[in-house]
This record gives sequence, C-alpha cells and structure tokens, in this order.
Amino acid sequence: MDICDYLKNALKKGLQLKDKIYEQVINTNPADLLLCETLFHNANGYIGIRSCFEEGYAGEFSAVNPGQKEVSPDNVSRNSVLRNFVSSIRGSYINGFYDFIDMPQAEKLYGLIEEKQIMLNIADTQSIRLFLGSEEFNMWTGKIIESRRILNMSKGFSERLVRWVSPDGKEVEICIRRTASFTRPCLFLIDYSVKAINFSSPVSFISVHKGDVENFFDPADPRVASHVQRHLDIVNFNTENNASFITAETVRSKLKVCTAVDHVLSKEGQIKTVFDNKTAVCTIDTQIEQNESITLFKYSIFTDSIRYEACDKKARHELTSVLSVTPDTLYLEQQNYLDDYWNNAFLEIDGDDELQQAVQFNMYQLVQSAGKDGHCSIAAKGLSGEGYEGHYFWDTEIYVEPFFVFGNPAIARGLISHRYSTLEEARKNALLLGHKSGVLFPWRTIMGKECSGFFPAGTAQYHINGDIAWSVIFYFLATGDLDFIIQKGAELVFECARLWIDVGNFYNGQFRINCVTGPDEYTCVVNNNYYTNVCAKRNLEWAVKFYELLKNAGKLDLLAKKINLLNEEIVVFANAAQNMYIPYDEQSGINPQDDSFLSKKRINIADIPANKKPMLLHYHPLFLYRHQVTKQADTVLAHILFDDADPQTVKNSFLYYKDITTHDSSLSTCIFSIAASRLGFYEDAYKYFGNSASLDLRNTAGNTKDGLHIANMGGTYMAIIFGFAGVKVKENGLYISPHLPKHWKTCRFNLRYKGSLIRVTIEGEKINISLIEGKSVPVYVNDKPYII
Ligand code: BGC
Repeated sequence: MDICDYLKNALKKGLQLKDKIYEQVINTNPADLLLCETLFHNANGYIGIRSCFEEGYAGEFSAVNPGQKEVSPDNVSRNSVLRNFVSSIRGSYINGFYDFIDMPQAEKLYGLIEEKQIMLNIADTQSIRLFLGSEEFNMWTGKIIESRRILNMSKGFSERLVRWVSPDGKEVEICIRRTASFTRPCLFLIDYSVKAINFSSPVSFISVHKGDVENFFDPADPRVASHVQRHLDIVNFNTENNASFITAETVRSKLKVCTAVDHVLSKEGQIKTVFDNKTAVCTIDTQIEQNESITLFKYSIFTDSIRYEACDKKARHELTSVLSVTPDTLYLEQQNYLDDYWNNAFLEIDGDDELQQAVQFNMYQLVQSAGKDGHCSIAAKGLSGEGYEGHYFWDTEIYVEPFFVFGNPAIARGLISHRYSTLEEARKNALLLGHKSGVLFPWRTIMGKECSGFFPAGTAQYHINGDIAWSVIFYFLATGDLDFIIQKGAELVFECARLWIDVGNFYNGQFRINCVTGPDEYTCVVNNNYYTNVCAKRNLEWAVKFYELLKNAGKLDLLAKKINLLNEEIVVFANAAQNMYIPYDEQSGINPQDDSFLSKKRINIADIPANKKPMLLHYHPLFLYRHQVTKQADTVLAHILFDDADPQTVKNSFLYYKDITTHDSSLSTCIFSIAASRLGFYEDAYKYFGNSASLDLRNTAGNTKDGLHIANMGGTYMAIIFGFAGVKVKENGLYISPHLPKHWKTCRFNLRYKGSLIRVTIEGEKINISLIEGKSVPVYVNDKPYII
C-alpha cells in the first residue's frame, strides 16, 4: 500500500483506539525529538533501542556524496550538540547488562558503597543515511510535506512516515518501520522503504554499525549519570559476506556483548561493508525509477555473555536464523505474540478515548520493558533511556508485578525469580550493614549489589525487603501457585523476615524498627516509619503462614535444612508481628508517617513556586527532612497495599497527607487515585488518575526524554483495577466493588485468578463477570459471595 494511503487509513476516526495506534506529527523541535526518542522506542524486555532519526539530526551528519570512496561514517557522537542546544540520546540497551563504575564517597565511612553498576549503551545499529543521487535526505533541508510517527501496539512496531522534497525537487515517500522482536529477543529490524514520486535516479544508503559508543550523562541532574566514562573495549570485529560483527568487552565487569548486522535489499543492487576505525560502514547502491518503491531491511542482532557462553557464536546463529525467514513471517510472529498478550491483559474503557489510549500505551510499555528470561527485571525506565542508570528498584514489586500477576503470571514469576537469583548478594549486603541473619536487598541494583550512593534516601529504605515479600504473597494469593512458593517464594519471605528480627527490637513490649527510610524520600532515617512497620508485620505473618503451609504439604524439611530454619525462629516471627508497633495519633486520628513526623513544621505546598519543583532539585535534603512535606505516597500506600487500618483512620490519613504531598515522584498520584476511589472522593480519584495515565505521553514530569516512568505505568493499571474496579485479593477470594468515573460508559477487563481467566464488565451499577478459561472461582461482588 502507498505510504499516503496507509496514512489516510491510520487516521480514519476510530481506527486508532481499536487498533492500538498512537500517532504524532513529527516536528523538528529538539526537545520534542528527544522526547520522541523515548516515546517511540522499541523494546522487548531484552533489548531496547531509542527512536532516533536514522539519518541523525542537523549538524550530526554532513552531506557526503556516497560516490566519494573515502566516506566516513560521520560518527554520531551521543553527546554532540544538536542544533547547538540539545543532545540526542542515541542508545541501545540490553536488560541486565552492566559495567561497574566508581562512586567515590567524599567521606569514607564504613560500609558506604564506592562502586555501582550501570546499564550500558551497547552499540549503534540504527544509523542509516539515504542519498537520492547526490542529495542526502535530511529533515532540516528541502521541504517536508507530511511527517508522522506511529506506534502500532497491536502489531508491535513503530513507523516514521515522511513525504519530502529535496532542494532539487525530488519528491519521495519514506516509511521506516522498526521492530524489537518479542519472539526472537535478540533481533532489532529496521525496514526502510523509499518511493520515488517524480524522478528516477541512483539511490544509495549508508548504513552504520558502531560498537564504540558511550553512555549519556548530565552533570546537572542527579537522576542520570554525571560524567562520561569508557565502558566497552572492542575485542573483535569482522565482516562475513558483508555482514558485520562486533564483539566488545566491558572494562570492569568483563562481560561480553556481540552485535551483528546484515542487510537485504528488495531489488538488485550492490552491497559492500567495510570497517573504518572499528565502525562498519555498509554502502548499498541501486537505481530507483519513478513510482517505484524499494526497501532496505537492516537486521541487527544483540547477544551477551550473561545469557550465552559464546555470545558471538549465538549472534551468528541468530542472524542466520532470522535471515532464513521472510520479514512477513517475523511480523506475523510479532502480531501473534501481541494478540496473545492483549487477550490476556485485556482492558477497555468506553467513554474516555484519551485516557483509554494512554492506558493502552502504558500497558504496551510494560510488556516492552519487562525482563522475561529470569536474568533481569524491569528497570525504573524500562529499556527506553538511561535515567536511573538501568537500575531495578521496589518499582518492580509494588507497581509492576500486580499487572503481570493478573495478565501474565509467567512474567511475574520471572521477576520474582530474578530477585531470588540475587539472594546471595542480599545476604552479603545484610552482613555489610551489620546484620547477623537474613538478607537485605539493595535499594537499587542491576546484578544484586547495592548501587545507591546516598544512603539516607537509598540503602536506608529497608522496606524493599517487605515489598519483595509482599509481591510473593500477592502472587501466591492471586495464583495459588504453591509449587513456586516451595521452590523460591518461601525462601525469599523467610530470609526477609529474619532481617526484621535483626534490625528491630522490643521496647516496652512492642517491636520497633528504628533508623530506616520509608517510601517518602523527603523524610529520611526515622524511627518507626508506618509503612515499613506494617510491611514488616505482613512479611513476618506470612513467614509463619508459609511455614505452616509447607509443613502441611510435607515440603518444609528440605528448605528448612537448606537455610537452617528452626521452629523457634518462627515463634519469634509471630511474636514480633503480633507486637509490631504501629504509629497512631489520637489527636488527629491518623497514622503518622513516623515517630517524629507530626512534630515538624508543615509546608504549604501551594506556596512552592512552580520554578522550585520538583523540590529535590531546589532544596537541601535537610530542609526537606525537617518539614512535613512528602515526595510521594507513603502511609497512604500502606493503607492500599495492606488494608491495615479502620476506614475512618484511612480517611483521616488520606485527607491529611494529600495536603502535604508534592507528588514529585511519579509513583504517587496513581496511589492517591486508588485511595480516593476507595474513600468515595471520585472526582479526586479521576484527577489523580488522569495525571498518572498521561504522565509520559504529555511529559508532565519534564524528564521523559531520559526514559519512561515504568512504575507509574503499572500504577495507572492499579488505579483502574484496585481503584475504580475496587479489586482486592484476599485469602478467601477475589473482591470487586466498582465505582467508575461518571462519564465512563463501561470498563471491561480480564483477570487471571487462581489459574482461571475471567472477564469483568462494569457498566454503571451493573457488573457482569464471566469465566473465559479454567475452573470456577469464588468472587465477592460488593461483598456478596458468588461462584463464577
Ligand atoms: C522515587 C522512588 C523510586 C525511584 C525510581 C524515586 O524518585 O522516590 O520511590 O523507586 O524514583 O523510580
């Protein structure tokens, strides 16, 4: 189909939502280009490639006649100036692939971390320049008639559609499709089509494969790396039949990565690849006739030595394998994968097109970002950018896992398994912090070692242990998968529980946890953070329950022996849980965030000028710590996750914290939306939800260029399911008590529960639940029991 027809079809009203298409007119405003690199990136949980223009931006490529044989690849320097005032982040990443980097502490106190891991930019295989005769296609010369970007979320590719007239009057339609394959995770495919509208001439592509790349940095922003460092040494590069192979080794972690690139042209032409200073430059020459379309397929394969012993061999093997099938087969595989994905994770809102699209977008980004091979997890920015350096946080367990537990439990299991695989590092971390038993998971990490440089807002967030335990418990309650608990889940919960006993102590008959930081990073190193204590209590209670469950199933002995778990320890767990100190303030009727919180000066957040937000970039931490001002949901989150307090206290707490929460973290409004829904503040619930759902699409946090806010994307889903639909997973069944925003006609979604798949349809007061797959399950609708 002509590109123009395609465009017209894509724009037909109604098509976009149904077909899960997100689309934007391209402008060449540098800030928007950077944003689109993130929004249109392609990823599959293993690799992620930012969506930069193949030909680069103005100033990065000079027009070179491909006929000149001394053509150089014109290295796309990642931090080079784009139109003199903005950088491009031309990144390609592998989930869980890292190097170590120094993190010097100014004062070398015992146990402070001096080295961290960083997710690496691996290679640039997205660069392709197009020449029509002697003229080079470039968005800053000639005339752009039409220019759009499309993200096709049901077929799993992004596209750039451009109608361009060169300075000499050659008119072309260009359609560039990019895919990171879900079924062949090593593959990134660019399919570059050109149609000559009013001319015939020689046409050439210069396609670059560059292994000598660097990570992005910005010294002014603590949320990205502060300086540039060399992480990859190219140890091997060669061509075989014009395919190029580059193997590089990381400087400190000594891991290897191999990238392989090959090209196929849809018509006769000449293809020649040469290495120029370790960069492969492939020149493709052919002729285009008026009205003819030609396509260049560029196959890039990424492999690494964490997954594959001989990653170069694996790359060769994968390349041969993808070249043995047609691109149509690859697209079909992609579509089948996504059909299955959307069938399981089905969610439709009728009556709110804009937010429905935002929700679809977020759900698509979750499957693009989640590691699926047990070697990795889901980074705070997924694979869409370098913000937070590719680290995994509690974001995975609290904000993302519920989505996968309900939509794709195998992915949820993989995420938990990844934590499980880092238990030994967590044990060492606990020892480093002076704990004699149990494990302490790092606040941020890739391979399991702590990476947080500023311990008050990092390592001190001990709640990470309770969060991991919560995710195991939630997984178990929703799936009933006892086998997984026997294999991995129970061990995680026991080891995390042990730490609470070591870190806390009894005082006046109550179990207290001092000197920790809760989720709110504007209040650090406090005694008895409410969230942490409630989370620890839940962890300890379930350690006792899993002990009994395993014992009754005759599955305890092996594990108890392995980790030396004695019955006496379980008695201690039960005692600490039962006597856990839970902060409560009689006067205000709320749960204070910690022991000292209510005694601090209050900040009226309405008085904070817009140019002083987010506060973390404009106020000294001590100033923040000394005030009643919170960065994100803390006690309010505890009320949602643990259903731990009476309704009046929950309401009082919500009203109290709402006025002092800045939502400077993207992990916040989604939670406030759930709380507001449950409490009957429906308008607030919808406002918070809208903010959460469109945060990245509208770039409301202003830093989507550094990557998506993945936790918030999971949080959007939670706001619908736990908030508007009122879903709770309890020990005796699934609960649903919906209340939709007024203008939503219907909301329909699927849930996987105890191995069955159910479809919930909410239409005003009417609720219909049907069984799509599996056996009957108990569901409580507005607290009345039913069997579906
Ligand atoms: C939030 C943390 C979160 C991290 C990564 C921070 O701004 O305060 O709760 O884990 O971002 O998303």
